[in-house]
Amino acid sequence: MSRVVLVTGGNRGIGLAIAQAFVALGDRVAITARNGQLPAELEGTDVLVVQADVTDTASIDAAFDRIEAELGPVEVVVANAGVTRDGLIMRMSDDDVNAVIDTNLVGSLRVARRAAKGMVRLRRGRIVFVSSVVGLLGSAGQTNYAASKAGLVGLARSLARELGSRGITANVVAPGFVDTEMTAVLGEDRKTEILGSVPLGRYASTDEIAGVVTFLAGDAAGYITGAVVPVDGGLGMGH
Ligand code: NDP
Repeated sequence: MSRVVLVTGGNRGIGLAIAQAFVALGDRVAITARNGQLPAELEGTDVLVVQADVTDTASIDAAFDRIEAELGPVEVVVANAGVTRDGLIMRMSDDDVNAVIDTNLVGSLRVARRAAKGMVRLRRGRIVFVSSVVGLLGSAGQTNYAASKAGLVGLARSLARELGSRGITANVVAPGFVDTEMTAVLGEDRKTEILGSVPLGRYASTDEIAGVVTFLAGDAAGYITGAVVPVDGGLGMGH
């Protein structure tokens, strides 16, 4: 049966691939985009675009209200929106720290908190957080980002305990390096260094992340909650 799915940051990169994977499964999909625009790749689909910023609680609440009114109760939420503001810690400004934590960690909590209300009423739901291999492995120059992504593990595991009795699962996907706009900014030397440390010797495709997210949202994953699933070509060796 088709479900109502929300993917934050579903307008590009990994989020777009996740939205496309749910569309292919026949689900009713909504995405957030800060500019409120349907990306060209989703033209011709029934995907609902809602303008929302995960750093703004009122905007998240309004997005859910609209999705519930137009598509019905949200059964699957993928908290994917994220940013980087890399730099060495001694030169990292409070703004760089706050922006990354507020978007990646608190933004995901805001989305999950609003989603939980509807899921508790439905007595089922799937919450998937998009973390990162660096949340568990650490990464020089990414203290803010790694801390935000590690925080998602505690968030998901606490939700798994809080909401498990209502038939709601909460899991984390931890991608390795994926070729998107986020990684396009890395220099060639850094890219070569990264690939040298990945046993599979290549970046992930966005579809390889999306496949794991749809699995965690599907019936086959009904008994998986509080898990961290690495999709990193072996970089973290399962952590
Ligand atoms: P992109 O930079 O390509 O896309 C980021 C997405 O997040 C965009 O859709 C963007 O929306 C959205 N976003 C950012 N800030 C906000 C906000 N305040 N409110 C709402 N949406 C926001 O990144 P990726 O696709 O590569 O990354 C997606 C997720 O995967 C992120 O959480 C990232 O940390 C994680 N990840 C990525 C890896 C990689 O190698 N690429 C590796 C591991 C994890 P907008 O278009 O409006 O800016």
